[in-house]
Amino acid sequence: MTNKRIAIIGGGFAGLTAAYELGKLGYQTCLFERMPELGGLAGTFPLEGTRLERGYHHWFTSDTHIVAQMEELGLGDRVQWIASKTGWFEQGKIWNMVTPTDLLRLGTLPFVDRVRLGLVVAYLTYLQASKKNLAKYEKITAADWWRQYGGRNAWDKVWSPMFRGKFGAEAENIPMEWHWYKIVLRIGSRRGVAKEELGYPRGSFQVLIDALADAIRKQGGKIFLDAPVKRVVVENGTAVGLEFADNAAAQMAQRELAGELSYARFDQVICTAPSFAALKIVDALPAAYVAKMTAAKYMAAVLVILKLKQSLSPMYWLNIADRSIPFVATIEQTNFLPRELYNGKRIVYVSNYLDPASPYFQMSRAELFAAYLPHLQKINPQFSADWVEEMWHFKEAAAQPIVPLNYSAQIPEYRTPIRNLYLANTTQIYPEDRGTNYSVRLGQEIARLADADTRHGGWGE
Ligand SMILES: Cc1cc2nc3c(=O)[nH]c(=O)nc-3n(C[C@H](O)[C@H](O)[C@H](O)COP(=O)(O)OP(=O)(O)OC[C@H]3O[C@@H](n4cnc5c(N)ncnc54)[C@H](O)[C@@H]3O)c2cc1C
Repeated sequence: MTNKRIAIIGGGFAGLTAAYELGKLGYQTCLFERMPELGGLAGTFPLEGTRLERGYHHWFTSDTHIVAQMEELGLGDRVQWIASKTGWFEQGKIWNMVTPTDLLRLGTLPFVDRVRLGLVVAYLTYLQASKKNLAKYEKITAADWWRQYGGRNAWDKVWSPMFRGKFGAEAENIPMEWHWYKIVLRIGSRRGVAKEELGYPRGSFQVLIDALADAIRKQGGKIFLDAPVKRVVVENGTAVGLEFADNAAAQMAQRELAGELSYARFDQVICTAPSFAALKIVDALPAAYVAKMTAAKYMAAVLVILKLKQSLSPMYWLNIADRSIPFVATIEQTNFLPRELYNGKRIVYVSNYLDPASPYFQMSRAELFAAYLPHLQKINPQFSADWVEEMWHFKEAAAQPIVPLNYSAQIPEYRTPIRNLYLANTTQIYPEDRGTNYSVRLGQEIARLADADTRHGGWGE
């Protein structure tokens, strides 16, 4: 083991992976998580004798980094691939949206537009295969591109509702680059033309979170929970340590690591907190870097999870294209995994992406359910409040970064302008969509960079 001590702020997949990779290289790692449990956005809660993600989670077959990590940690046999059932709710009806022929049957879109849509998607996929210059897609929003080249109906009736399901009121502002990449990855995630398979770890995402935490501790690394970092201590333009919040667990970390000093000393600090949270604990960042850290905004997510006596719909993922409905998707976990895993109950997420200023972000669980109930009855007229045996409510402020046009020139660098301080969060994942796979990749990249800087005695020197 080296005598270099590295602090990692945040215990989501990026932080856990960075700590694990640095531990493999012999560094002394200390990970600080402000919440009482690890996992970050992919964290879970107990339900029916098992665990369930607070926000629905699955993998695409293109998510190779996290699957390889599962294998490395001896969890390869836990990775399962399951055919997904995706649907579309519009005009009071659930439409299948699994195969290309389902698209051709989507009665809400005129036939000629359906054919055109299929051809344009094929063209976008060909562009990737032929490695054509795609940079121009960063300069135009997906909404404008589709209206111009793919047909107004394709945007208004197909993509706009899907983007709304992902980006809420920001749906019109997403660069085409993001959409192009998503189409290519989703088509790549198909096994054959007819079905899409999604991955899920047997036992929930918690099995990987626990395995990473165990591996870090076995390497001699330390994990502090309920331990918010209050400040990154910077001396002469170099990050030298951390101060902790005033709560008991954080103060224990302070006493254990700082001894007589007023702060705990570290050789390097890796911050995986969302940018707005990072800016609260790091002073003295130059304006140009702060501008990059604030170039991408965040959407919040509000999730109501229902434990039901009966099924809401036949779909795993149901996009809500009907604009009169105040949520963007329902995700029925037990149409993906067998309901026997949850004691025979039906588990449904009602999902919303919105601005944190939205009234829905402030509502209580009971208020949300009351607001959603008549709309759940549009999806299934038999649905009644009596079906609900238990209900949970979670909200996340930094659920989804919204990147602006020409983002590649605005992504904050991993090495911040403060020497020995690194930033690794979801705003640096581009053009791919954020996801656990890319947070694992990010954690691996940041660990390699921190190690290279240590070995070469400098800050990229
Ligand atoms: C509703 C929803 C559905 C999703 N679905 C999928 C999916 O199907 N598949 C998929 O792969 N991904 C999905 N994701 C995305 C995935 O969860 C994230 O991309 C990934 O987990 C992010 O990991 P991270 O470590 O980069 O960030 P985070 O998980 O945000 O981790 C950052 C951590 O930093 C901690 N922190 C912040 N400030 C401090 C501080 N001052 N001191 C100490 N700790 C601090 C936070 O508490 C947090 O735990 C979904 C996300 C959401 C919200």
